[in-house]
Amino acid sequence: ESAAKAALREHFGYEEFRPGQQGVVEAILAGRDALAVMPTGAGKSVCYQVPGIVLPGLALVVSPLVSLMGDQVRALLDAGVRGAYLNSTLTPGQQATVLRRALAGAYQIMYVAPERLADPRFLEFAREAAIPLVAVDEAHCVSQWGQDFRPSYLAVGDFIEQLPNRPVVAAFTATATERVRRDIVRLLDLRDPYEVVTGFDRPNLYFGVERMEPKRKLAWIGGYALAHPGDSGIVYCSTRKDTDKVHAALVAAGVRAARYHAGMPAAERAESQRAFIADDAPVMVATNAFGMGIDKSNVRYVVHHNMPGSIEAYYQEAGRAGRDGEPSTCMLLWSDGDVSTCRFFIEQESGNEELTLEEADAVRASRRRLLEAMVGYCHTTGCLRRYILKYFGEDEMAPAEARGRVQEAYVALDEPAGGVGTPADGCNNCSNCEGVFDAVDVTNTARAVMRCVQELRGRFGKGLVVDVLRGTKSARVLDLHLDEAASYDTVDASAAQVKEVIELLAAGGYLVITEGTYPTVGLGPRAREAAGEGFSLTMKKVVRKADRVRSAGA
Ligand code: ADP
Ligand code: ZN
Repeated sequence: ESAAKAALREHFGYEEFRPGQQGVVEAILAGRDALAVMPTGAGKSVCYQVPGIVLPGLALVVSPLVSLMGDQVRALLDAGVRGAYLNSTLTPGQQATVLRRALAGAYQIMYVAPERLADPRFLEFAREAAIPLVAVDEAHCVSQWGQDFRPSYLAVGDFIEQLPNRPVVAAFTATATERVRRDIVRLLDLRDPYEVVTGFDRPNLYFGVERMEPKRKLAWIGGYALAHPGDSGIVYCSTRKDTDKVHAALVAAGVRAARYHAGMPAAERAESQRAFIADDAPVMVATNAFGMGIDKSNVRYVVHHNMPGSIEAYYQEAGRAGRDGEPSTCMLLWSDGDVSTCRFFIEQESGNEELTLEEADAVRASRRRLLEAMVGYCHTTGCLRRYILKYFGEDEMAPAEARGRVQEAYVALDEPAGGVGTPADGCNNCSNCEGVFDAVDVTNTARAVMRCVQELRGRFGKGLVVDVLRGTKSARVLDLHLDEAASYDTVDASAAQVKEVIELLAAGGYLVITEGTYPTVGLGPRAREAAGEGFSLTMKKVVRKADRVRSAGA
């Protein structure tokens, strides 16, 4: 048995590493840098504590969470690990004692705040001590693109450079974007790091997507809540108005529902929250203002009444279901109107912030990309779980046995342009794996759309593009003499179908749609590829809906 496994059992009482942990531990022990992206609770600490125990010398853990260091070290001491911490909560005398003992080899693991690394006295200490490993927790703090940039993290790289023997450097974070990851590698100067993204899969959650006209949504949600009496659930709405409306409808239908949004008085919000947590009102109807820091483990379903603006936002909100590990349902109801609303917000919002024009443009472009990935989720015929995991950069799903239920019936499907994930190895626990689809080939229509947008030079909105392609003699088309365009009347399909093809092309990055005062459809970053030989596009056509999507609805 390896020393690492022995340490895991002896000190932490676990028989096995979790998937992901083992690779990081082995890389570190083999002397290789590492970058691990794991959500909170996935077990990052074991990844550096076990090597810290096994390796001779003193492993440093850089962490911004000064207030937690005491607890972390106490837990280590309880586990029979010689741990220590050095931060500003200690008196200068205590700090000197810790450093003296550390030099004498008293500790295996020491937590320090990043500010400490820039302190010359600490550097002097570190140059004398034997430091085989520097583990950087919350490593995204080093990136300006992350949520919590801390300039003190920039000192980590300098610090390591000044050590006489370069230690192994291992970085840990729960923030997944590619850009932040690249920043971590660059700014911490990780050398050929072993990279792993893991733990994002929530096997007990069922994911469902259903396109639905707004007026049907209410009936569906009411039907779902009544069909699952006693179950705790959250219904997320994008506006306060919708929240009030859905809440009123549920209450009228006899559902004990609470309501939460930022427009309510604080006392009312607090009471809603209390009633929900206590299961007096098992169903919560809320905007995204609700949920931060709420840890209710028995939430059996999260239904989205509208499409959120990004996969990050969706997964965070949906992820509030099933914290107790029991099978739970995450259902997204969406309509074209939701997409337009999101686009509209993107064009409006960043206009009034104090940004330079270029910065505002960059913000809008990045939000559009986030939204298009969300739209892609709604359109994909591939496995929804795979789509999410790929989005976060995780390749592997948890084994099928871990899921709520396994079904053998499965129809292989093609994926649309923007889609990721291969349904052939789906999860059998999402509405795409469960449902039956036809993948309709719309490549020719897609090519015609691309030609038309190019010809119109991105000056017009979706409706006009559709009219031109279908050869409509509308006043606007005739006024602009677009009936003379080369792409006029080149498509034989319904307006709805052409619109959907435009949406798919946007989701795949071939087009960019804006929805401001002057809505436009323009060429996207991947427009060139659509002209190539290998290009093809298929559209999801539902043949048989997943049972769970069907059952609760009207
Ligand atoms: P993170 O730092 O990623 O938020 P933690 O390191 O705090 O996560 O670990 C989360 C929980 O998982 C802790 O209760 C920890 O004891 C537990 N845990 C970690 N590794 C294992 C393992 N290999 N087997 C079982 N439980 C584990
Ligand atoms: Zn699936």
